Amino acid sequence: MEKMDGEAIYLSGRVLWVVKSREELHAKVLDDYPYYVRIDLKNGENICTCPSGGNCKHLEAVKLAYEHGFYFDCPDSGMFPEACAFSMLNEVPGLGLEVTLKELRHALETDESGSSAAMLLLRAAELVERTKAWKKIPVLEDAVKEYSSLFPDYDLTERLKSRIELLLSKRSGEKR
Ligand SMILES: [Zn+2]
Repeated sequence: MEKMDGEAIYLSGRVLWVVKSREELHAKVLDDYPYYVRIDLKNGENICTCPSGGNCKHLEAVKLAYEHGFYFDCPDSGMFPEACAFSMLNEVPGLGLEVTLKELRHALETDESGSSAAMLLLRAAELVERTKAWKKIPVLEDAVKEYSSLFPDYDLTERLKSRIELLLSKRSGEKR
């Protein structure tokens, strides 16, 4: 992956979500790996789970996202900011689908076990069904094709394929 600075990371949409919990920001950023960033807004203290541990381009990207109003207000998310981000994205399934597809793309490139990619595929299928975003089905079909070339001998691969089949039949039911 090409090396990007904080601004490029932000502009390319790799800040998946930002949660503001009282005086703290929590965020997830996709770079070579998914990283988690926490920032104390009172004093700027921060930590990032990338190798540099903080004060890094991921921190810059999260700050930019926050400054542009891209965050969820979760005053009581406590130890579980990701859970709050999930429930917020669930309220805005169109955005949730966008975020899930980004994570899925990333997981297909980096996930050695196929476990995260499979979970993300199932979640994306749910969101497509809920939002009736049928035009995204080809994206999922491609992802399953890619998945089955990586993990051809998994029974799981067959289950993912049949999940997409189910989506296709829902779509044609919808059109009738
Ligand atoms: Zn970092």
